[in-house]
Amino acid sequence: MSEALKGCPFCNGEAWSFPSQYADVTLWNARCKKCYAAHDGYKTQAEAIAAWNRRAPDPAAEALARALEKCGMRLTSTNPLLSQTWAYSQETIETTQRLNRETLDEARAALAAYEEAK
Ligand SMILES: [Zn+2]
Repeated sequence: MSEALKGCPFCNGEAWSFPSQYADVTLWNARCKKCYAAHDGYKTQAEAIAAWNRRAPDPAAEALARALEKCGMRLTSTNPLLSQTWAYSQETIETTQRLNRETLDEARAALAAYEEAK
């Protein structure tokens, strides 16, 4: 008895597993019923289900998400023009603009590191 199929990793839709016949070879697949995401064929249904259910983490994508989350928090916490309505001194505005530029540079560096790691 094989394990149950997890929901689709992309849309959490219900998935199903089915055999495909290629000449004299039978390969097992899994496919999402909602968005039709699928993987290549496996020799057994158990292998196909195990592959579908594997949720391999992507360290590069996780690092990028953490970096962008940090940048987003910095932007909302340091930008008085976004979060407040009263007047600020020129110095405060310039400091905010500098921090925003630094945050943007950090986001660009995180994206470059992600592209490099792929
Ligand atoms: Zn799906």
